Amino acid sequence: MLVWTHDRWRFPLPARHRFPLDKYALLRERVVADGTVSPDEVRESDAVPWEWLEAVHEPALMQRVRTGRLSVREQRGLGLPWSDALVERGRRSVGGTIAAASLALENGLGMNLGGGTHHAGRSFARGFCLFNDVAVALSRLRAEGRVRRALVVDCDVHQGDGTADLLGRDPDSFTLSLHGSRNCPFQRIASDLDVDIPSGTGDEPYLHALDEALEHALPRARAELAFYLAGADPWEGDRLGRLRLTKTGLRARDELVLDRLLDEGIPVCVVLAGGYAEDIRDTVDINAATAAEVARRTGAL
Ligand SMILES: [Zn+2]
Repeated sequence: MLVWTHDRWRFPLPARHRFPLDKYALLRERVVADGTVSPDEVRESDAVPWEWLEAVHEPALMQRVRTGRLSVREQRGLGLPWSDALVERGRRSVGGTIAAASLALENGLGMNLGGGTHHAGRSFARGFCLFNDVAVALSRLRAEGRVRRALVVDCDVHQGDGTADLLGRDPDSFTLSLHGSRNCPFQRIASDLDVDIPSGTGDEPYLHALDEALEHALPRARAELAFYLAGADPWEGDRLGRLRLTKTGLRARDELVLDRLLDEGIPVCVVLAGGYAEDIRDTVDINAATAAEVARRTGAL
C-alpha cells in the first residue's frame, strides 16, 4: 500500500510545545518496521500550489499565511509559531491528502501519514491547522471532474469546525463529527451531524454512538468518496482529549468506519488528525494500528 508523508519537513517549535512534531517520522519508521508498508511505498508529498489553497480559503488569509503577516490574534489562535518552514510543511501535508484521496478513487483506499487539519476554515487558520487538507483535496478532485459527493467522518476528539465552515452548507458533502462534548472548540460551527460524546465515555458507548451516526449519515451522504479523520486523541491517556477509549477500542473504531464505508462501496481516504499522548509512542501506536487496518483492506473494493 502506498502512503504519503511530509515528516522530513520540520519547523521550529519552542521546547515542550504540545504539537507532536516527532510523531510523523516515528510513524514512518513504525509502519515500515511493522511490515504494513515497504520503505519504497512511503512517498513524500508535493507542496500544493497556492491557487489550489485559494480555491478553498480566503485569498487574503492565504496572502497573510504566505508572507508571515498573520495578526497577533491569528498567530495565537493558530498555536504554532509562523515560519517559512511551517508553511512549506503545511502545503506538503495537503499534497499528501490529495494524493491519498486520488489513490482511494482508483483503488478504494488511500492514506496520508498526516493531514486531518480540520480547524482551518475559509477565513481562519487555528488549532495547529494552517490549511484544511480535506476540503482542498475535495475541491481538487471536483475540479478534475473525478468526484462530486463526499462524506467526512471526523473521529478526532475535537469538533471539526473548520471543515463544517467549508463544507457544512455544501449540498454535495455530508460532514459528520463525533467529538468530546467538553473539548474545544467551544464556539462551534455546525456540521451536518455533530455527535457530542460525554467526558469519560469508554469504548462500548462510543462505538454504539459511532455506529448510529454512520447509520444516519450514509444514506444522506450518498458519497462517492469519504475522508476518515482517525484522530488518536479520544484515547484515555491523551492530554487534551476527555474521552476514555482504549487502544483496542480505537482499533475497533477504525474497523467499524472502514468496513461500513467499504461495504457501501465508498472509497476512503484516511488522514491522521490529532493525538497528544504524554509519551508520543502511544500516539504512534494508535496511528500505526490505523495504518495496519487500512493495509489489511487494500483491494477490498
Ligand atoms: Zn484533536
